[in-house]
Amino acid sequence: MTASNMTDSYGNLVSGPGKSTLKANPACVAWLATHPEWAPVPGARHYEASHRGNGVRSLDRISNGRKLTGKVLAVSVSGTSDYPKTRIVRDEGTRWTSEVHAFVLLAHAGPCPDGQETLHGPGGPLDSRYCGCDTGACAEGNLRYGTHAVNVGETIAAGRAVRPATFPCINHERCGGMVVNEGRRCLRCATEVARAATAMYRAGIDEETAARRLGYANPVWVRRLAVKYGGHDPAVRVMRRSWPHRAMATVRYRLKIGIGDTT
Ligand SMILES: [Zn+2]
Ligand SMILES: [Zn+2]
Repeated sequence: MTASNMTDSYGNLVSGPGKSTLKANPACVAWLATHPEWAPVPGARHYEASHRGNGVRSLDRISNGRKLTGKVLAVSVSGTSDYPKTRIVRDEGTRWTSEVHAFVLLAHAGPCPDGQETLHGPGGPLDSRYCGCDTGACAEGNLRYGTHAVNVGETIAAGRAVRPATFPCINHERCGGMVVNEGRRCLRCATEVARAATAMYRAGIDEETAARRLGYANPVWVRRLAVKYGGHDPAVRVMRRSWPHRAMATVRYRLKIGIGDTT
């Protein structure tokens, strides 16, 4: 092996100098050698999850008479969570959206024990490898089940603790909300702005005008709020309609050549 870091398909550090502080546990090496990478997701027989950080895949299957080819499923990270999610279909046909780490542990470690939750090791939220152990600092894996108390303790130790909201929202007199960063709007107020912006976009009002009406200088920021809290489709850009420009140009042209109504 060279000095370069090796990464898996999610870009997680699998080996190399960056992982040198973590020890390879012989028990985990043995576990990995005896457990195939892909295991079925209980309750969804057309899907399998990888314990090596390669996510969730569908299998070749027949659906409504059509032959579907299996593939590794796309993941998405929503605005409110650091953890990649994906969507599969249960045996009874209903959709099942959950974090990749939840499918991996369900397939390889079984259901989450009562009173426990998923813990992520030093690899962070994108590292969904599981190695059969519960040390929490293993070179072979990153996921395990554990109690909330352990999770909180590790989060604080890793410097990832959530800071409390201690500043008043800039709209505090009206909403009474608190924020983490001074000079910001609280979640409730940001949601109000996002919904108003989304409604304006739907009414055909362009992003610049909508931002101005809501008291923001930056239309990009308002658009982000609309996507995050207002349900606005991120693929849709709301541009100034082109016809007013064309109309203006026509008026200018008519003025220039001296025809038309100028009153
Ligand atoms: Zn391990
Ligand atoms: Zn507020």
